Amino acid sequence: MTIATIDLNFLDRTGDIAAYLIPHAGGAALVDPGPESTLPALTAALGEHGLTPRDVTHVLLTHVHLDHAGAAGWFASQGAKVYVHPAGAPHMLNPEKLVASASRLYGEYMDRLWGAMKPVPAARLVEVRDEAEIAAGDLRIRALYTSGHAEHHISYLCENVLFSGDVGGVRFGQHAYVRLPFVPPETHLAKWRASLERMKASGCTRIAPTHFGIYNDAVSHLTLAARFLDDVEAWLEQNMPGIPDSDTLTLRYTEFLRAHGLAAGLDDAARKAYDVGNPISFAASGLFRYWQKVRNGT
Ligand SMILES: [Zn+2]
Repeated sequence: MTIATIDLNFLDRTGDIAAYLIPHAGGAALVDPGPESTLPALTAALGEHGLTPRDVTHVLLTHVHLDHAGAAGWFASQGAKVYVHPAGAPHMLNPEKLVASASRLYGEYMDRLWGAMKPVPAARLVEVRDEAEIAAGDLRIRALYTSGHAEHHISYLCENVLFSGDVGGVRFGQHAYVRLPFVPPETHLAKWRASLERMKASGCTRIAPTHFGIYNDAVSHLTLAARFLDDVEAWLEQNMPGIPDSDTLTLRYTEFLRAHGLAAGLDDAARKAYDVGNPISFAASGLFRYWQKVRNGT
């Protein structure tokens, strides 16, 4: 099995959003095809591997956020089956609500960022159970429910490679540094921690986060992810009582991330790459909501 990391060159940036191509005996599987706006990059990369979009038999979605799943409907229209958590399935059948809530966030930039999103017809949609074994040609791919970033997040284990979506964190370049992409409305720190444990116990030795690339040190990667989670949680416990709103949290969390990155030896350019991958204001509003709804239960 040879996995290809396809750089979707999102907004002409390299190394930000990946789609993973797994060729098999009867075609190829794609983990997270990315947004619709980067389809030209994706189809060109398929061509470089001697494949057409019609050769894609399986589109395995870690979750339905637009930077991961936006192009799924288009692949369904080319004949692929789309695999998703049952709680994500309604959004694939009818993306209207998903697109509307993203539009509230991104406004006029919506189209440039994500493009359109086609629905996946029911006949092409497969709801994935926890621990399901998905057969793709000669390959067997195991699905692991891993909530924390979104309730309906799945990670996929193919041989020793874990496709960790967003729950395994984001990591760029060769840095031994993992940051977690907190987002509203479903960030849940205890669930996230349990998912990281589950990933570690899965037997993976390589890890492929959507943002970005395949790393050969899965266990230390996941240990770094858990450490980041612990550090953020300890910081929140200490600081949240004095933080009145999400905007203040954004400012304070920016300082926290800067200090945290510096302590880990990240230079300015590296920190910037991590900030671009998960805008700090999104992360802060995800954490603020978590604190109010979950930690304080209001
Ligand atoms: Zn996401």
